Amino acid sequence: MRKLRWFILLLLLFLLAVRYTNDVFIYFENSRPSESSGPINNGRLVNGKRIPLKGKNFEACSWFLAALGRNSVHHKVRNCLHEAYIELESIRPDARFKYGETGWPCGGNFWPHKTHQNGFSVDFMVPVINAGGKTDELPCHFFNRWGYAVEFDNKGKTKEYSIDFDATAAHLYLLDQRARKQGLRIGRVIFDKDFHPMLFSTEYGKKIRGKMDFPVWKPIVRHDEHYHVDFEPLVSTKHENK
Ligand SMILES: [Zn+2]
Repeated sequence: MRKLRWFILLLLLFLLAVRYTNDVFIYFENSRPSESSGPINNGRLVNGKRIPLKGKNFEACSWFLAALGRNSVHHKVRNCLHEAYIELESIRPDARFKYGETGWPCGGNFWPHKTHQNGFSVDFMVPVINAGGKTDELPCHFFNRWGYAVEFDNKGKTKEYSIDFDATAAHLYLLDQRARKQGLRIGRVIFDKDFHPMLFSTEYGKKIRGKMDFPVWKPIVRHDEHYHVDFEPLVSTKHENK
């Protein structure tokens, strides 16, 4: 009986830590701006900022991973994520968004990701539509590796869900717009190349085509359940004239 009481107590403490650790770190974070150095695959971050666990239309794919601090970014990236989610409330009030892993508060090696090292990389889980035709959330939990193990076919469908390409494109468009106000832009989006035609055929897809790189090479890990976004300083003009 005593063992059971200890188990319940420890479980409660664990759940409380998972729920509130991220909030506590954000509450006590310093107000100094973030400083990023080095490339996304060999970089560092000083004064990285954690993204809130959830808002009106968004949530972390894992409260546990967020409690560990694996949801940290450069402060400018956090600002544009926040502003884009607010704008999505009016453009796509029905849609719900989940963000995935981003990086450590101090940057650096972020296993198992090859990049995500300087505060400018963010994974976003795909917004989805369920079998009933309604917008839904991609289920993210321990047993599907917080969403990363969900497999979509080359049409962007599973048995239960299909990718909401319209909401995905609107999200990317607004992220880029907001990033530009922070002196950044979206440099690269890694998303399964089979999905590109469906993404570019949407209203906002037409607006983002040519504004950011969508590599067509096959990454080691298939990017079907999430789209990886790399931000970069706006001074770079390599994508502007495409
Ligand atoms: Zn990524």
